[in-house]
Amino acid sequence: ESKKIKNSAHIFASEMQEGFLKNITIEQELRKAISNHELFMVYQPQITAEGFYYGAEALIRWNSPLLGNVPPDHFIPLAEASGLMLKIGRLIVEMVCNDVNELHQKLQHPFHVSINISVRQFMDPHFLEHMLHVFKKTQTQYLNITLEVTENLFIEDLHYILPLLHQIRDMGIEISMDDFGTGYSSLSMLRQLPINELKIDKSFVDTIAHDVASAKMIQNIITIGKNLNMHLLAEGVETKEQKDILTTFGCDRFQGYYFSKPLPKEELFHFFSKHPFT
Ligand code: C2E
Ligand code: CA
Ligand code: CA
Ligand code: CA
Repeated sequence: ESKKIKNSAHIFASEMQEGFLKNITIEQELRKAISNHELFMVYQPQITAEGFYYGAEALIRWNSPLLGNVPPDHFIPLAEASGLMLKIGRLIVEMVCNDVNELHQKLQHPFHVSINISVRQFMDPHFLEHMLHVFKKTQTQYLNITLEVTENLFIEDLHYILPLLHQIRDMGIEISMDDFGTGYSSLSMLRQLPINELKIDKSFVDTIAHDVASAKMIQNIITIGKNLNMHLLAEGVETKEQKDILTTFGCDRFQGYYFSKPLPKEELFHFFSKHPFT
């Protein structure tokens, strides 16, 4: 019996070591990926309740020659932990600006783009300064930009975060609260936040058609958001049924595989050219 425990402890230790080594490899490769242009953005279309496309969420992709496609769920946390996130975050803003400018020109029509901003990135003392520098350098019209932040941002020092969010919003950049309902949140705090949009997390959307409790909860979130004059965007919408229920509840923006998967910029152009656009 004790031998068994010893063995499994040993296996556990070596698995941990393996995981650790794997993460070190990923981190090393990620460093190279930044300079080797292995990172790029894809864009998932966003649509209004009336059925018009108006924008897209920018999502990062990494195609590594050594590791293959590494999902962002995997490497973004590693980048955050290793300090690489600042560099990657800056690169993301730059890639999005370049892509969006190119698409604006081709489409002859502006559209919204949402950029995910990690907590580390937002807390960087030079975050705003750098972003404005990139907008200027790339001549990006930032009135069409939304920043997606998560609830976890609001665990940080509110005396620092709130004025900065107000400053960003006063410039005409919109703020969206991503994955709403999954993290640290307080409804009383929501009232004081300069937020334009709540993104209802996919985990709630997943169960909406089959679980009365979760449907009720979404309905409440939507009502609260609307009372605070916020847009409500449902993410991860995969079926017509989900979309219809959410529409009945008053949700006004949608995103998910039911409409489109995230697309490389060339495909986004074709998608927007073929579909009704605001
Ligand atoms: P997120 O911000 O909540 O992004 C939504 C994720 O759900 C994306 O996964 C998207 O591809 C996926 N998705 C959208 N619609 C559907 C659907 O109908 N069904 C299913 N099954 N999935 C759907 P992705 O691109 O793998 O990104 C995962 C997470 O990685 C993101 O979650 C975000 O937290 C992070 N991430 C991705 N790109 C960036 C980035 O540029 N910057 C930062 N800071 N984080 C990013
Ligand atoms: Ca997001
Ligand atoms: Ca999300
Ligand atoms: Ca999510």
